[in-house]
Amino acid sequence: MSFSQNHVQKAFLELIVKASTNLPEDVEQALQAALAKADQDSPEAKALETLLANVALARSNWRPLCQDTGMLLFDITSPPEISRAEIQAAAEAAVAGATELGVLRQNCVNSLTGKNTGNNLGYGCPIFHWQEGGPGVIEASLMLKGGGSENVSAQYSLPDARLSAGRDLDGVRACVLDAVWQAQGRGCAPGILGVAIGGDRATGYEESKRQLFRRIGQRSPHPELAQLEERLVVEANQLGIGPMGFGGKTTVLDVLIGWRCRLPASYFVSISYMCWCCRRQTMTIALP
Ligand code: SF4
Repeated sequence: MSFSQNHVQKAFLELIVKASTNLPEDVEQALQAALAKADQDSPEAKALETLLANVALARSNWRPLCQDTGMLLFDITSPPEISRAEIQAAAEAAVAGATELGVLRQNCVNSLTGKNTGNNLGYGCPIFHWQEGGPGVIEASLMLKGGGSENVSAQYSLPDARLSAGRDLDGVRACVLDAVWQAQGRGCAPGILGVAIGGDRATGYEESKRQLFRRIGQRSPHPELAQLEERLVVEANQLGIGPMGFGGKTTVLDVLIGWRCRLPASYFVSISYMCWCCRRQTMTIALP
């Protein structure tokens, strides 16, 4: 096995183009199902039709699904023999290339100077998460998460007196419904909620984002969480917020709940809100 920078960079570029322009099939199907349920000629139906037309145009023209091409989060499983620094360099070169092509907006701002770095690269951008895998292949997943959806993500520390939420699944339920309510009219609904119970503040959010790599409808392996996911989809959709906040039957496409161990003193519920434009793709890169 050898590492070819060009080969891996090209594969990463393909992954970025696909993620930015091609809404995953399961998300598109969920939007179609929402449209089928919506009242004819309602603002909800019109909003969903517009989203679906946008999805088709982006795919056929290889153009970004949304003007905000988001924060790039790479989740990479790599062979032990290959240097992560080399893989990261190939991914970063692909990010700069995709920015030049216009598949990614210039979307990375130096927080101290306020200057745009111009190529989506900078301290902390993109984000890389790593796991060690077997020999011969790199498994790369990429999520593009827009600022509007990130801004309405929320974290709760239980118990929470305002919500009458204790340290149990009913408390988690109260947090999720509150987050959906607070996000209304922002974050470009219908959304998908990645939820993490536990961890610390940083890893809680990390785990909640990890949930967003799951397919719509892929239920948790833990029966009590699977049941809560299903219940929350129904209850969130009863809030009547609807696509883009126009009112309607579909406010969320899914709720995906994970967990991590926590300290006895802490019980965080971290909620990563993903907009309808749920851009995630995975690719296996075979190494020559
Ligand atoms: S929240 Fe999502 S759909 Fe809305 S502007 Fe941001 S990236 Fe685009």
